[in-house]
Amino acid sequence: MAITISIPTALRQYAGGNAEIEVEARTVGEALERLTTTHAGLRQHLYHERGTLRNFVNVYVNDEDVRHAQGMETPVKDGDSILIIPAIAGGAPAAEAEVTPSVEDLAALSNDEVARYSRHLIMPEVGMRGQRRLKAASVLMIGTGGLGAPLGMYLAAAGVGRLGIVDFDVVEESNLQRQIIHGTRDVGRPKVASARDRLADINPHVNIETHETRLSSENALALFRDYDVIVDGTDNFPTRYLVNDACVLAGKPNVYGSIFRFEGQASVFWAQADRGRGACYRCLYPEPPPPGLVPSCAEGGVLGVLPGIVGAIQANETIKLILGEESGSSPLINRLLLFDAWRMRFRELKLRKDPECPVCGERATIKELIDYEAFCGLTPPAGVAAESAEAKPEEISASELKRRMDRGDDLQIIDVREPNEYEIARIPDTTLIPLGQVTSRMNEIDPARETVVHCKMGGRSAKAIDALKQAGFKGRLINLTGGITAWSNDVDPSVAKY
Ligand SMILES: [Zn+2]
Repeated sequence: MAITISIPTALRQYAGGNAEIEVEARTVGEALERLTTTHAGLRQHLYHERGTLRNFVNVYVNDEDVRHAQGMETPVKDGDSILIIPAIAGGAPAAEAEVTPSVEDLAALSNDEVARYSRHLIMPEVGMRGQRRLKAASVLMIGTGGLGAPLGMYLAAAGVGRLGIVDFDVVEESNLQRQIIHGTRDVGRPKVASARDRLADINPHVNIETHETRLSSENALALFRDYDVIVDGTDNFPTRYLVNDACVLAGKPNVYGSIFRFEGQASVFWAQADRGRGACYRCLYPEPPPPGLVPSCAEGGVLGVLPGIVGAIQANETIKLILGEESGSSPLINRLLLFDAWRMRFRELKLRKDPECPVCGERATIKELIDYEAFCGLTPPAGVAAESAEAKPEEISASELKRRMDRGDDLQIIDVREPNEYEIARIPDTTLIPLGQVTSRMNEIDPARETVVHCKMGGRSAKAIDALKQAGFKGRLINLTGGITAWSNDVDPSVAKY
């Protein structure tokens, strides 16, 4: 029986670039077994060494999570779709009173505001009641990047009374392809300052509060306390889990969005430990992927318009939460929306609260915020750190490499970036072997010669060296510190930086 397995973008490189693969199978387990037999590279991304499915990978048959069916034994029939949904760097609605006080207590609109919001006011679903609720509401946006840009602009335009923005970053030229809240003249300015100016220009009736800080376990609960709705526009796993846990502990709705290349996810997590409402992010993904397994947007790229669409969906959901149940809208609670911009397809999956969830479950064990860098494996325990320091590859700086090349030393330089990156910029006299192929093409590297390995920043080349050593490569391997970016900075500024 033919079953279609949809392969997520992040894993397609391990499945011969295919978006969909058809297999014959009677159960989910059998289908995945067939898939990982024909595409062996996928196996380590889907399964632990002990053979169980990894925690940051969810498998759906049609729109049902197999964890809520019979797991790997879940039967499949001809025409069924199996979806593999990995985590990507992202109940019933609450009682109304918690988001906003009763309408009678809300501030009235001025004549200027009536004129500005007239297209909302004549919609019965919003009306004067809804617009006054928007004016009384407060929203905290985590991040003013790709997702935060449309989100902030639409929330300001819609008349949300108080908007908090948290960001510690500075506007860079490479942000402008998608972060439309910032302009060319803002390059080099703090993002919160640039965003504040743009939002104030869109709507001077909005009270904008800037928090130029990195969201942390120390400040999150105090920050969240003053806002009705929290919107997650982050791009990394530690902050995503931090936002989730802080929202659960503070009882705030968490409007979630995440993006990678041309795929997006959105949902509304509204889980309070003591009230049993919707699922939270941990109910969906109990654990983050190990560092480096899921590429970030900085590594993998992102279609500029994608965060525009996903961020606008987050703005839509935020406005609906503020307007409340009376507006007749259905929030994205316990529903995970998947968007594929390349195939222009939306899919919706059911989410269920996990009674065993460590933060929102019945016997929750997480009662306060933890160290999320450590949770995501980014700061290994001291013993492990010492061990990996020993295993750290030999390194060379860009200027030292240039000196040695000029001196005529016998070096082979292996570039482990992707072919499209090689098209953008390259170091002369290098051989391109993308990271995913270094072990299978190991015979192209001469172990008798000294080998310098490089990538964009130095991270992937360190991984390549590690993989080569593990595969039994005996030659001398040296990592180019800072990659081609350092080469451009220190040796040859004509090499484009990207
Ligand atoms: Zn949960």
